[in-house]
Amino acid sequence: MGMARRVASVHEGYVFIWHEGERRREHQVVAEAMIGRPLRPDEEVHHVNEIRSDNAPENLQVLTKSEHMRLHMTKRLRKARR
Ligand SMILES: [Zn+2]
Repeated sequence: MGMARRVASVHEGYVFIWHEGERRREHQVVAEAMIGRPLRPDEEVHHVNEIRSDNAPENLQVLTKSEHMRLHMTKRLRKARR
C-alpha cells in the first residue's frame, strides 16, 4: 500500500495515525484503502483476531453496525457456553 505509518497515539488499544493531516484510527484508514471508498456512517471495522492494534488488512473486516454487534454477541454467547 505504501502508506507511511505515522503513529500518533494509542488509545484503548486502538492505533491512531496521522493521515492526510488528520488524526485517524489506523484500522479505518486501512479498511478504506481495502474497499476503495470511505466507510459509511453505518459501517464499522472488526478485528478478526480481536487484537485492536493488529491492523493488517487480513485482520480487518468491514461490517454494518448491526452485523458487527450481532457478531460480538454470538462470540460472547459461545464463550459463555464453554
Ligand atoms: Zn469487532
